[in-house]
Amino acid sequence: MILLGPPGAGKGTQGHVLSERFHVPHVSTGDMLREAVKENSPVGLKAQEYMNRGELVPDDIVIEIVKERLGKKGSRNGFILDGFPRTRRQAEMLDSVLHEMHKNIDMVIYFRTSEDVIVRRLSGRRICRSCGANYHIKNIPPKVKGICDVCNGPLYQREDDKEGTVKNRLEVYERQTSPLIDYYKEKSKLNTITGDLEVEDAFKSILKLFAEKDLLSIKDRPSPFHIREGSYD
Ligand code: AMP
Repeated sequence: MILLGPPGAGKGTQGHVLSERFHVPHVSTGDMLREAVKENSPVGLKAQEYMNRGELVPDDIVIEIVKERLGKKGSRNGFILDGFPRTRRQAEMLDSVLHEMHKNIDMVIYFRTSEDVIVRRLSGRRICRSCGANYHIKNIPPKVKGICDVCNGPLYQREDDKEGTVKNRLEVYERQTSPLIDYYKEKSKLNTITGDLEVEDAFKSILKLFAEKDLLSIKDRPSPFHIREGSYD
């Protein structure tokens, strides 16, 4: 499954919840790249400058890390891609990698989201430097300002969530990523939900899509919302 949409649409949060609920890995290229930056790995060193400017990391770097991730054992029963593909070339590469693996994309979920919602979410987002948990200064404040509820780590604002960079990220999204809406529409894979909804309502609309497509039996599992209630990404 692919989660497609602008930054701040809620893809990360829904990816996390879906992964818990359906026991398939949540593969976020943004998370993997941030991890590489934190570790000062060769990929991280190359990626950091692009990320800080709100630009896309070159396709070859991203494709390589995705290929490696999808080849791992845990991805055998499927995966949720979040933040990938982001360009037509990435989408075409993904098609050929999946073809080699004898796999298919079941569905693409496009989070149509209004700009004021995006800006409000991104400008208030705070991340734990130690464990990566997400907060929002208004919607999901930590119990103690600036401190993670989960691990007591310090919270920070992502460099690329700052005002000047957000504008660039949205332009980059419009120019390079939004054409994928038509790419997947033409393949009859595209399903649209509204990214403006709160976490639980967005999740319900995804479950409704699954039910309509008869993709999974979804009735008899417990709600996953104890995990990170109200969390946005
Ligand atoms: P995200 O956490 O998805 O918002 O990603 C943060 C940043 O990582 C993006 O602004 C890009 O610089 C980089 N990035 C993440 N995924 C990709 C991708 N598929 N292609 C290129 N760059 C990416």
